[in-house]
Amino acid sequence: MQPIIFCDFDGTITETDNIFSLMTEFVPEESEKIAKAMMEQTISFKDGLSAMFRLLSTQQKDDVIQYLMNSAVIREGFGEFVRYAQDNNIPFYIVSGGVDFFIKPLVEKYGPFSGIYCNKADFSGDQIELIYPNSCDEACTKFSTQGCGCCKPSVMRKVATEDHYKIVIGDSLSDFEAAKLADIVLARDHLIQRCEELHVPYKPFTTFHDCLHIVQELLDSTNTVPTI
Ligand SMILES: [Zn+2]
Repeated sequence: MQPIIFCDFDGTITETDNIFSLMTEFVPEESEKIAKAMMEQTISFKDGLSAMFRLLSTQQKDDVIQYLMNSAVIREGFGEFVRYAQDNNIPFYIVSGGVDFFIKPLVEKYGPFSGIYCNKADFSGDQIELIYPNSCDEACTKFSTQGCGCCKPSVMRKVATEDHYKIVIGDSLSDFEAAKLADIVLARDHLIQRCEELHVPYKPFTTFHDCLHIVQELLDSTNTVPTI
């Protein structure tokens, strides 16, 4: 079995959720109603995300990007963890419900990655319009509504093979479905409780130093020799 890593971005690679902090900074009242509906799952993750970004004018593009570049904090140990995966030929995918215009510049210096799957933004109109290139496949429970936006389980089914030992790293709602497909979950925050409920094997983590030690132990204990 070869390990493969699927890592979330917001609240996982970064300390906090960038979309939440962006909305709180630029459109606090309007976005809060949408966020609440998303958490209560009265609207889909995708529809909520689209509605939030539509609150932002495309004229705010530079301010939005500048704000995120200044406010996002990469979680401790991320660089070492990525290098460990690279040195051991462990494929490392970033799979995120966030948007390319802030994810790519923030992770660029740590790459290359095996792939970055996320949403895109269209700045050609008056408001920011999100585009979803990684939609739900037929095996996703939200296929009929395409409700995931960036569908993490669909990406995993596309990228991983049966021989892969799937390591999912994440923290919240958008990782719940991905966790069900994982061989092991490295979890923070809401995802810890969700793994307990789902009876999915997981290890809690705080920094990426923890993740490195967990993966290192896994490799040692299973004698998994990664091959190219
Ligand atoms: Zn889906």
